[in-house]
Amino acid sequence: MGHPILRQVAREFSFEEIVSPEIQDLIETMKATMQAASGVGLAAPQIGKPLQLAVIEDMDHRNLNAEQLAARDRHLVPFHVSINPRLYIDESTGNAEFFEGCLSVPEFVGVVPRAESVCVECLNERGEPVVIQAKGWYARILQHEIDHLNGILYIDKVQLPTLMTAENYSKFMQKSVKEIQTE
Ligand code: ZN
Repeated sequence: MGHPILRQVAREFSFEEIVSPEIQDLIETMKATMQAASGVGLAAPQIGKPLQLAVIEDMDHRNLNAEQLAARDRHLVPFHVSINPRLYIDESTGNAEFFEGCLSVPEFVGVVPRAESVCVECLNERGEPVVIQAKGWYARILQHEIDHLNGILYIDKVQLPTLMTAENYSKFMQKSVKEIQTE
């Protein structure tokens, strides 16, 4: 947070660039960086590259119980990349409010309203067009990462009274989002 690249609109890039060794290496670096940080997504601007590229993977649910997974509509998402994404919000399904954090805003979390359901048109790591239909937590991850590509951080959308340290979140996470909002 505070690095100017995080506040820029990242640039789109071409098929030739996508399949180049440089970008293929960047994708591998981003995958390793995300996994080392136990993140579920990472956008290129977060490692200083102002490119329309994000990596996503949500395969480790060991710290959540069945009830928490169900409340978040959270399911396993295998590793994939999203390049030059276009986000379309499905207005018919409304918003969900949950805590989220960001590797670029360390040690904090807060409640962010996000659309329940989205569609993303993008390119994969081979430069092929892909359409992603996502709901629940996966839709949240996509919105968070695509925000990064447009210079937006979750703190721009957080419900400020819910912003807290990750430490206090761990301490008080037994409470529901509603309870914390009304305190
Ligand atoms: Zn982030």
